Amino acid sequence: MAGFVVKEDIDKIRSMANLYDVISDDVTLKPSGSQYMGLCPFHDEKTPSFSVNPTNGYWHCFGCGKSGDVFAYVEEREGVDFREALEILADRYHYELHYEQPSRGQGGMQQPKGVTRVRLLEACSEAQNFFAAQLASKEALPARQLLAGRKFQRADCERFGCGYAPLGGHELVRHLSAKGFTIEEMVEAGLARKGPSGAYDYFRGRVTWPIRDTTGRTLGFGARKLYDDDRIAAKYINTPDTKLYHKNQVLYGIDMAKETVRKTHQIVIVEGYTDVMACHLAGVTTAVATCGTAFGEEHAKIVRRLIADEKLGAIQLIGPTQGSRVVFTFDGDSAGQKAALRAFQFDGRFLTQTFVAVAHDGLDPCDLRINDGDAAVRALIKDARPLYDFVIDTIIDRFDTQYTTGQVGAARAVAPILARIRDRSLVNAYTRKAAGRIGVDVASLQQDVLAERRRQGVRAEDIYAPDPQRAPMSREPQQLDAAARHAIVRGDALNQNYYRVDDAVFSTEQQLMGMVVQVPRAFDPVQFGNLNEASFRIPVFRDVFDVVQAVGGLPPEGSPMSAAAWVTSLVQMAGPMLAPVVEQLAAMPLPVVADQQVIEQQREAGPDAPLRAASGQERVYAQQLLVNLLDASCVRRIAQIRAEMKALPEGEAKFRKLAEISALEQQRQQIQDFVFNNGVR
Ligand code: ZN
Repeated sequence: MAGFVVKEDIDKIRSMANLYDVISDDVTLKPSGSQYMGLCPFHDEKTPSFSVNPTNGYWHCFGCGKSGDVFAYVEEREGVDFREALEILADRYHYELHYEQPSRGQGGMQQPKGVTRVRLLEACSEAQNFFAAQLASKEALPARQLLAGRKFQRADCERFGCGYAPLGGHELVRHLSAKGFTIEEMVEAGLARKGPSGAYDYFRGRVTWPIRDTTGRTLGFGARKLYDDDRIAAKYINTPDTKLYHKNQVLYGIDMAKETVRKTHQIVIVEGYTDVMACHLAGVTTAVATCGTAFGEEHAKIVRRLIADEKLGAIQLIGPTQGSRVVFTFDGDSAGQKAALRAFQFDGRFLTQTFVAVAHDGLDPCDLRINDGDAAVRALIKDARPLYDFVIDTIIDRFDTQYTTGQVGAARAVAPILARIRDRSLVNAYTRKAAGRIGVDVASLQQDVLAERRRQGVRAEDIYAPDPQRAPMSREPQQLDAAARHAIVRGDALNQNYYRVDDAVFSTEQQLMGMVVQVPRAFDPVQFGNLNEASFRIPVFRDVFDVVQAVGGLPPEGSPMSAAAWVTSLVQMAGPMLAPVVEQLAAMPLPVVADQQVIEQQREAGPDAPLRAASGQERVYAQQLLVNLLDASCVRRIAQIRAEMKALPEGEAKFRKLAEISALEQQRQQIQDFVFNNGVR
């Protein structure tokens, strides 16, 4: 495992990566004031609410509330973590990342210079070109026949990247050598092996499928046997684990499925490459397959990130779950067994969204499409049944419950499954359902389940007692995964009614802090110094003001600080709860702008350019906001003092209050004068 990416590299990538370019790949951006607007890639919308500020490198969606910097964008877009986002951007800008080994003496240790990730990607990409081209060769006839026999046309094979690995054993090695790849690179990419008489191809005489990541880059291959005398007996083989390819973290078809998965919150997990092809061709474009391994926790993480549903396997924040589905198709006689294994594998919330689809006669989706056509494949997925129902019914079906012995047997067999359901409301529901189906009374099955739970050492609480309090956040925060924690943080930030812009006070404070974050040079430092915590009425903006104070106030005149560095320092100081608010302010459209030419120049210069000077219009606007805020806080304070005064008897104390009021009135006058006389330059 490689170590940490060195911090300088993170900064380097941040300054190289042009947010405008990166987002433009997916979203058409149109200039709108100092911002660029487009349709949000993260939620369905018809009018643009996705705002991008290339000047400081932050984006925000006013529809779904997501926001962040260029790394957050790539994380969100690709469904990857920070590290992968970094690597994706590094690849894009042809930058070689440096890794640091954790805990080896003092300081970091440079990783030994080996074959780089980028070279491995290039080797895999070239190998895919080679395999795909070979499918048309004379030798590949059996491969073409196999694919045609599964009702795949030539165009289908091209779409899914089907290829052919020649029998000879050296063709790919020769091809890659001619393209300038070293044997070491081929071996590390899992494309070749070293033998006593030199390197030879890893895949020989097989049909191949490219296994890609979410962005469509080839990481490795799956290959099916064609010839009886194949030296490898296994019907399917895959790239061995490499720096790029980890069999527990790849899903064949994810690059083609991810868009629909994101949109529909559904993913279909099938068992083979040809099943993925059959599903997509039949119109089920959310299908993916694991590659030479069973669906595991790492796969589940990818699915959660893509479906981007915090309810899925993480934590239920609001309301009932709606529509998220993870559908497993199982074929053959062992379907029930495989489903039962899943039932024990994941946490309850993931499982309540899990469905099982089993076709008649144990057909897989590929065979189903051959026999019954595309509509049958779509129906198979549509009619998928909840996992627990499927597992429990499969068990009960093994017994003849017309007879008492059958009933007892079924109850005994089903109890261990029920006992392992972690969600207590589900245990109860399914116990009742199962009791009904078997024909035993609920109380007796409950006894069996409780006994089973004791035997399994499951916590000895009374699962059938009435649910005291539905506590959706009952799990300890430290047990949550990052996605769930993120969801909570986001949720809280949004719960602050941040979108109530009809309120004039709210709007003024929001606009002021927006200007502070985006155009800090628009403020007169002296006048800005008149603000204090009491100037703010909206807690969230008071907090952001504190953040500005904590980083040392507005950037000093003449400092070379860039817009990106300014906002980033605020985001970092803000911490996880407040960062989304700062990010939103950074990308929020403002009613005044510098002239378009300045904006264009700024975009071209990128986020590393020093903070630009404010335009006259911007200064006026900043001034007005500041005055409004200071004036409003004076007015509030005066009203407060008046109220206090009423409660006082005539005398010294009352007189002091009166003096306070007159001082405040004077202050108001000064604020107004400042604007109209010398405030605006
Ligand atoms: Zn959105």
